[in-house]
Amino acid sequence: MIAKKIKIAPSLTVGMNQLAQKKKAAGESVVNFAAGDPVLENHPLILEGAKRALEKRNVPYTPTAGIPELRKAATKWMNERHHAEYKDAQCLVTAGGKFALYAALQALLDEGDEVLIPAPYWVSYPEMVKVFGAVPCIVPSNEGQQWKITASDIEKQLSKKSKVLILNNAANPTGALYSEEEIAAILNVAKAAQLMVISDEVYSGLVYPGKRFVSCSSFPEHQERVIVVESCSKNFGMTGWRVGFAFASQNIIEVLTALQGHSTTAASSISQWAALSALENAVEVGGYIKNAMQRRRTLFVETFNALFKKQIALPDSGLYLFLPIEERSSVEWCERVLKEAGVASVPGAAFGFEGYVRFAFSETEDSIVKGLKALHEIHAFH
Ligand code: PLP
Repeated sequence: MIAKKIKIAPSLTVGMNQLAQKKKAAGESVVNFAAGDPVLENHPLILEGAKRALEKRNVPYTPTAGIPELRKAATKWMNERHHAEYKDAQCLVTAGGKFALYAALQALLDEGDEVLIPAPYWVSYPEMVKVFGAVPCIVPSNEGQQWKITASDIEKQLSKKSKVLILNNAANPTGALYSEEEIAAILNVAKAAQLMVISDEVYSGLVYPGKRFVSCSSFPEHQERVIVVESCSKNFGMTGWRVGFAFASQNIIEVLTALQGHSTTAASSISQWAALSALENAVEVGGYIKNAMQRRRTLFVETFNALFKKQIALPDSGLYLFLPIEERSSVEWCERVLKEAGVASVPGAAFGFEGYVRFAFSETEDSIVKGLKALHEIHAFH
């Protein structure tokens, strides 16, 4: 029996990460700037939440939409941070933000629909869209416009088939943040064009001093057309626990819950209790991860600027730096640098944007210095 062929590309970020792991396993020295995975011990409160759940000695299925305590805590967390107006029934707990995105696209898309995706984009958006027979419609941005698209960029790309806009704020790979006015304008265009908006906000907690994060959930008048995707992965350093959320109107949450019921059933029970502990202590646990990432961001940028003539700026949010390279192929650049310097990064091509590469500064401080020195030795940048 041959599996049905779906023409989707494997994730290049996962691919580069796996290549780096393989080299490591073979005893080679590798610094992994490819994975956006904070290398940091979990905050003890997360582990305590899980421990308490294990002590019950029974790990049953949870309700499909998530344990009520977690839905409540997550809703409170959203409402308090963003002055949003969600009720608990408007929150679905998923196995990571990724599944919330997947279920949302599955629920919204019919074959041939077009999905507007600003570039550079997170690698999985176009591939997920293709899984459902829909068509990614890329809306390019550039460094000169701070890697943001405008409402009029969207208007120019609209067609009769446009159905969904995926907005990623705070953005991976660029760290771009949209202002209140920019979001309001985008949501107004979406309303006029009857677009649904999926707002991927999984980096909302990693917004650095002096910068402001504005959520699409802060516009209750648009609640009917917005699905906000959130996650514990980056906000609380819980990537492997796999807990994310979708926030939307109740009827959409009911559809997504039904989809989840027939696919993953629910997020892991133990992970949900761990996430509850993180959310109940969101300021402390979120602060722990954000402070650590902020230190690594500064270390990465200062070390880079001391080693290279090329000078780079601190990104406003997230875990990444999206840096220009002089070579034409970002894939070749990343392969060469992995081979010659033992440093893994992700080619801009994976994000729909050639001429750039992405570095994650979520590695340990020692690794950041070691990796940058190795890049300096091979003159990776001028
Ligand atoms: N959205 C963006 C922009 C991401 O970078 C990621 C993970 O790297 C996700 C969603 C999914 O995160 P998770 O499934 O771990 O919550």
